[in-house]
Amino acid sequence: MKFSLPDTETIYLLEGEYSLWIVLLSVVIACCASFTALSMNQRMQQTSFFSRNFWLILASVAMGLGIWSMHFIGMSAFMIPVSMSYNIPMTVLSIVPAVFASYLAFYFANKRSVAHWSNLIAGIIMGLGISAMHYIGMDAMIMDADYVYRPWIFLASIGIAIVVSYVALFIFSRLQKYMGNLLIKIGTSVVMGLAITSMHYTGMAAVMFYSYVPVSSHSHNMHMDMPLLIISITTGIAILLLLSGLTSLLDRYVDYRLNYFDSLTRFPNQRQFEKDQLTIGEVKSLAVLHIHNMEKWTNAQGYVFGDSIIEAIRDLIQLHLPADTKVYRIEGNRFAILFLGEKKIDKSKEVLEKLMSAMKRPMKAGNHHVLIDMVCAVSHSDESQEARELFSQGMAVLQHPDLAYNHALVEYDPVIHTYSLERQLIRDIDKGLKENELFVVYQPKIHPVTREIEGMEALLRWGHPEHGMISPGVFIPILEANGKIFDVTDWVIEKVCRQIFQWQQVGMPLHQVSINIPGPYVTSPSLLGVLNYTISKYKIDSRLIELEVTETSVINDIENAIIAVRNFRDLGFSVALDDFGTGLSSLSYLRQLPIATIKIDKSFVAGVPENEKNSSVLRAIITLCDSLNLKVVIEGIETREQVEFVNSMSENPLIQGYYFSQPRTAHDIMIWMKEREVLVH
Ligand code: C2E
Ligand code: MG
Ligand code: MG
Repeated sequence: MKFSLPDTETIYLLEGEYSLWIVLLSVVIACCASFTALSMNQRMQQTSFFSRNFWLILASVAMGLGIWSMHFIGMSAFMIPVSMSYNIPMTVLSIVPAVFASYLAFYFANKRSVAHWSNLIAGIIMGLGISAMHYIGMDAMIMDADYVYRPWIFLASIGIAIVVSYVALFIFSRLQKYMGNLLIKIGTSVVMGLAITSMHYTGMAAVMFYSYVPVSSHSHNMHMDMPLLIISITTGIAILLLLSGLTSLLDRYVDYRLNYFDSLTRFPNQRQFEKDQLTIGEVKSLAVLHIHNMEKWTNAQGYVFGDSIIEAIRDLIQLHLPADTKVYRIEGNRFAILFLGEKKIDKSKEVLEKLMSAMKRPMKAGNHHVLIDMVCAVSHSDESQEARELFSQGMAVLQHPDLAYNHALVEYDPVIHTYSLERQLIRDIDKGLKENELFVVYQPKIHPVTREIEGMEALLRWGHPEHGMISPGVFIPILEANGKIFDVTDWVIEKVCRQIFQWQQVGMPLHQVSINIPGPYVTSPSLLGVLNYTISKYKIDSRLIELEVTETSVINDIENAIIAVRNFRDLGFSVALDDFGTGLSSLSYLRQLPIATIKIDKSFVAGVPENEKNSSVLRAIITLCDSLNLKVVIEGIETREQVEFVNSMSENPLIQGYYFSQPRTAHDIMIWMKEREVLVH
């Protein structure tokens, strides 16, 4: 670096010119890079799936490469009448200080304590980093002329870089809370972009180019370095696109991991298990590993200890099970194991026996060795059976009252197990209702475009004192088969109406709530009586209640079903046809039913939009319902792709699915609705 002109008299100063458009472009690139870097910084502030350092690195790469490509775009905007080229290794090397300084600067600016000195350090590092990048970049220049720096402007350029970086990082750390506000974020990015560009152009003003021979500064002699321009623009834009693409990909991946995997064991969770049961088809063996009395350990030693027990069990499972088994953590204390492939049943039994005998030995958890009580229920099938069926058989084994938790492998026996679960649930249901072991959860139905809540479905849950959460898919059919479902339905109607009344009291916006009505109850005259009694008891408008009846139940007794549905509608209740498509529906029958809504079963949504068959069936049903003037609700929407698929239809059906919300308790859904309101407005 030279700071004074040579003493000879025969030098010729060269005047450069700037192309205004490219200068502007360089400013824009710098601001965009800052914006991307700020977005990454924001992620770091949120408790994220990836470590803070991960986002910090991405932020510094965005920033560093932004500074770098801004510099070279700025250089190509500069035209002097001699030819210019660059030393490639040096050019590449100049990225390093930019990325490194960005990393340190963001590290300090993100410190939780917003101490003044950490901003100051951050500003100084960032300013020096930008300057180092610039002057190394200048050094990489090869040209038919020499140059010197005017010392004061040279110093000023570094000073400016430090001051403006400090201001930008100061704004950033002070306004971090408000970075969600787009305008503030853009404002901060512009200041940061200006820090980079003002340094660059001041730095350029510090340079004097000269030559020992006269050079014509005629305009045809002035040329822009086109290849450099193209490379730097492409690098700048490609990096920014790449990073934002990467972020949205990561977002999706994180969504997926959080929703479908257990964070402790990294096994897929209950949701993934439910999904796989629908798609995986036939299986030879399925086992459910149940850990007994987990609470004993967590109550005595705390949750961290409980976690280390689960980790020890996971390690044993991974050690003993062959690669083609699939393991899920389906509940806090249960694992499901699927044996895929053409295995002999004996083989899977052997593997499980080995696993259980390993579990029999005390295992190391934390600083202790503990003996964990457990049992493994297993269900086989000679001619491959649906996974769901095997699973409910495994669950039936676990419900048996005489089950011992002595590390045994207990095989499903239809005579012993089916009967015992049924008997037990029938015995317990009255007590369950009385003691509120059963409760109602609500799942919203959302309009896919406006995102407004258009209603919700009331779904029953049973937290059984012995068996834990039992799925309604298990207990509803048992209650139906034993004539217990009518009382339960009346109980649900009472709970829902009371809930609407309470919402009304606290001034919550009210939405229509759907109640599932079991098959034989639809045509019973007492249902109408119960409904009327309950809505007048709580002074509720009947339009706030929708009744969901299943296709199969109405087909069985279509004449009476038509009369019943007409009666409901006359009194102001809406009626929806649930699980559409799963029964052998005859459209000619359905046309006679005065229903308002069709609910398409979630099995049609599986694999959409990739699954072309399901996609076209969905499209066809929706078009048909549209022409019959029926409202449509699609159940089981879980992914963004599925929502986009639904959005692409001409008429938009409502969506009920995990994508928007799982079923939530009355209290949780109230909080959820309030939070949403804040977000939307
Ligand atoms: P349904 O009436 O078709 O209810 C929809 C089911 O789909 C619910 O399961 C709901 O949790 C589930 N679901 C919603 N969105 C998604 C999603 O995105 N992915 C997946 N995989 N599932 C989703 P749930 O609560 O387990 O209920 C199962 C069935 O049990 C219900 O099917 C209904 O037939 C019956 N049921 C539930 N509550 C009651 C009730 O109070 N009375 C009667 N009679 N039956 C009920
Ligand atoms: Mg339903
Ligand atoms: Mg349904």
